[in-house]
Amino acid sequence: MKLTGKNFIGKKQSSQGTAKYVASNPAAGTAIEPAFFEATTSEVDEAVLLAAKAFAIYSRTSADVRARFLEAIAEEIQQLGDVLLERCAKETGLPLARLTGERARTINQIKLFANYLRDGSWVDARIDHPDASRVPPKPDLRSMLVPLGPVGVFGASNFPLAFSVAGGDTISALAAGCTVVFKGHPAHPGTSEMVASAIIHACEKCQMPDGTFSLVNGKSIEVGKSLVQHPAISAIAFTGSFKGGKAIFDLANKRDRPIPVYAEMGSTNPVFILSDVLKERAESIAKDLVQSVTLGTGQFCTNPGLVMIPGEQRNFVSLLTRNFEDAACGLMLTSDIHSSFNNGIDALKSHGANVLAKGKEAGEGFSVSPHLFDTTGKKFLAETKLEEELFGPSTVIVHADDKKELLELAKKLTGHLTATVHGTETDLRDNEELLTILAQKVGRLVINGYPTGVEVAHAMVHGGPYPATTDSRTTSVGSNAMTRFARPLCFQNFPDALLPDALKESNPLGLRRFVDGKFV
Ligand code: NAP
Repeated sequence: MKLTGKNFIGKKQSSQGTAKYVASNPAAGTAIEPAFFEATTSEVDEAVLLAAKAFAIYSRTSADVRARFLEAIAEEIQQLGDVLLERCAKETGLPLARLTGERARTINQIKLFANYLRDGSWVDARIDHPDASRVPPKPDLRSMLVPLGPVGVFGASNFPLAFSVAGGDTISALAAGCTVVFKGHPAHPGTSEMVASAIIHACEKCQMPDGTFSLVNGKSIEVGKSLVQHPAISAIAFTGSFKGGKAIFDLANKRDRPIPVYAEMGSTNPVFILSDVLKERAESIAKDLVQSVTLGTGQFCTNPGLVMIPGEQRNFVSLLTRNFEDAACGLMLTSDIHSSFNNGIDALKSHGANVLAKGKEAGEGFSVSPHLFDTTGKKFLAETKLEEELFGPSTVIVHADDKKELLELAKKLTGHLTATVHGTETDLRDNEELLTILAQKVGRLVINGYPTGVEVAHAMVHGGPYPATTDSRTTSVGSNAMTRFARPLCFQNFPDALLPDALKESNPLGLRRFVDGKFV
């Protein structure tokens, strides 16, 4: 496929602006052709107005029609073939094997939403039958979830397929019946154009209204800002830095009509390793933990960046040190992420963390060397900066004096996506309070495992209290992500013929409904 560098305003390709940018190859730090046109404010406006027009039709399509549309998107992505992966590998420095897996994840994720849509019960249909004899008379009340409106989505740099143009945010919004204007991440514009073209082909194939999906490119924050501020946008989904997510959240709240912002801003994912388990499994935990920290050059929002242990644990720390020294260097996704990692190492040192070990020396391009730090519980309790995410292959061991201090460390934590506890049965029984504290802090608790590897499933929660996200009630991975883009609507005393099928008395869709206080 020949890349044009243009934006997609619905099915039309557009290049009104003069500002352009190119992608960089992380392995060599060199530019990759072609140049991409930054969307102008008027192009963003056109895309959003078209999305609003399309919403009037798209939001009324049946679940089955939308499920077929999603499946067509999956087919079109598959049909792009390996050219997609090759372009993506050039833009991100991610190995082809990883991208092959990520494409499969993206496609399976789309199919999961299609199946969930067909099941239909996600609309949470509720019916309270009337009672004319009651004083005062009880009305007929029926409610269900309905789509919010056009959604603005910001893609992440670290998952160029699964959290980008046809990633979980776009697909869950489309599944919910919302139209999407996608702000392409400037780190992988060619990949974005290819996947956007697949979505547009699927729109045409399934006769979806023009504007159901648009892609606006940009390397300056102005494109994203005009999307967030556009009066016709009803919600925002974002994955990226705390700085970016918080800025977008604040901008959305300053609008005349504030809108929900579902920003997933990453976290440090503390891992607590208890004393008995270290007597039994120090070697395997040290090996697996280093693998988890360095996986994908540490560029996962679930990367374990804090390891809390009771006391010095010299044997475990020396095992970790050896594994870190053997760890390979790896490529960061962008020049900015590369320099943030190197600056972050200096910042950690200045905030009281010691470098215990470094992996193999960094090579060419945006390469970095994995880092292992340690610090004391006292320093961690006194310095909030030690808890901040350093995006990349690094982790900080925190030595607690005793069990009491371990609990203090847990209490001090802010919101994270995950927390992990390694322990024997006895450890876990003796540390129930630790689990109770951690449950207040995260969206997912892991026992005797590692937080990297986020399964796309119905029960997955990829979210957590602030600052991990801007809305702890939701998840950005798994089928529950759809509810972010819907709101409850109640129909009072409606004639049956005017009700949506999900609420009709005869239940023509065969949904599981909550009728007069019971699931039926
Ligand atoms: P980012 O800087 O947060 O950017 C993500 C997207 O948001 C980009 O499209 C960016 O557009 C846009 N954006 C950022 N600030 C904005 C603002 N104030 N107003 C409007 N739009 C804004 O993330 P990144 O470039 O992927 O990586 C930078 C850092 O983010 C990393 O070092 C890491 O700390 C973190 N990160 C976290 C995760 C995670 O999973 N939570 C994933 C990736 C990165 P422009 O590029 O056009 O400015």
